[in-house]
Amino acid sequence: MSLHCPECGSEDVYRVAVAYEKGVQKTRSKTFMGGGLLSLFGPAFGIGAAVTRGRNTTLLAERLAPPQKAHPILAAIITFFAVCFLGFPVDFALAFFFGGIGLGQKVGLVIGGTIWLGCLIGLPIYALYKGFQYNLRLPKAIAEWNNLYICDRCGHVFTKEAGQSTTANKPTPAPGL
Ligand SMILES: [Zn+2]
Repeated sequence: MSLHCPECGSEDVYRVAVAYEKGVQKTRSKTFMGGGLLSLFGPAFGIGAAVTRGRNTTLLAERLAPPQKAHPILAAIITFFAVCFLGFPVDFALAFFFGGIGLGQKVGLVIGGTIWLGCLIGLPIYALYKGFQYNLRLPKAIAEWNNLYICDRCGHVFTKEAGQSTTANKPTPAPGL
């Protein structure tokens, strides 16, 4: 059964993994050979002369990149320090605000400090949790990514199942989708 784009009906589709590999190759060839060989890869890649060069290639490869492993511990540490630095101005701003509306700067400091402390402990734990949860899901996410196809004509990205659907062969979609 042939695959076709559920968006425009074109059968000129290929796997996102392949598109990604080609994008990375092209970016490398540009780096090493100054872009002179890019035009050789261009037609095979099929995106068109305007977007086969330089930064656009990198962007396409980025857009189609496989799911990356998260770094929960690093994320937690960065979050911790970010809250540390952001907490000072926020806490003092709250103190001035409470002083300004007549509730006393100390009240503002205490409330701001409490929120700050909560964020200082809570947000890194949240970052850790989300990171580990993401990594647990990673094999499934990569399997899903391996099942993705991209349309050479309109750039639509879709699953194999969507490309096999018989209702997919609809006429050209309205522009601007
Ligand atoms: Zn298409």
